[in-house]
Amino acid sequence: AISVENVHLSLGDAAARVHVLRGLDVHIGRGEAVGIVGPSGSGKSTLLMTMAGLERPDEGQVRVAGEDLGRLDEDGLARFRGENVGLVFQSFHLIPNMTAIENVAVPLELTGQPDAFERARAALERVGLSHRLDHYPTALSGGEQQRVALARALVTEPKILFADEPTGNLDGETGKQIIELVFALQREHQATLVLVTHDEGLAARCDRVIAMRDGEIVGGEAGIGRAAE
Ligand code: ATP
Ligand code: MG
Repeated sequence: AISVENVHLSLGDAAARVHVLRGLDVHIGRGEAVGIVGPSGSGKSTLLMTMAGLERPDEGQVRVAGEDLGRLDEDGLARFRGENVGLVFQSFHLIPNMTAIENVAVPLELTGQPDAFERARAALERVGLSHRLDHYPTALSGGEQQRVALARALVTEPKILFADEPTGNLDGETGKQIIELVFALQREHQATLVLVTHDEGLAARCDRVIAMRDGEIVGGEAGIGRAAE
């Protein structure tokens, strides 16, 4: 489960300080799929980063999968992410000088797992890319690159998948395929899904939708998810 309580976060230097998150409360149950919508600049990505342990709030508490993130140092946060969190972004963030299978193996190799390449191959098979294992990112289509990113996000079998506009750089049909895959993988892994999207139709396919505006929750929140942790 994910619990965000009274979180405030400001970003930027003194000349351009922005109070991005303004006292947020969000509770997401284990296995729940939650969409986050809201205008550009409302703080959706920043909230996602905060829940993923990539931004530290100035105030308030973030608990994810039983961990109070505020109590973890940088190493602790890195370990927390490695064990619990998968992330996919609008731009695919693949490592350009690594092949598809090498990219997917990275999170496993970071923790020294001996079967990294076998598991990476299985993850790429699951997203339909067994014929592209040795391709570099530039030799893959956008949809293929996002499938590699999905395989990499899920290869560690994380409890939580954070997706920030995962179809934003894809055409409609390819985006639809990626979303079907995201939901199918979420079900298979019984993972919690937090999906940031501009697309209200897409968000509506989640169990619940949270709407943000100017760093605050303006709709849909606060409920407790299906399962407590
Ligand atoms: P979009 O839909 O365009 O992706 P968003 O809802 O994801 O928008 P965020 O990226 O979370 O919005 O940004 C929220 C606000 O915080 C924006 O106004 C942005 O300019 C500001 N912001 C983000 N990062 C910084 C930073 N490093 N320094 C200053 N301001 C920042
Ligand atoms: Mg964003």
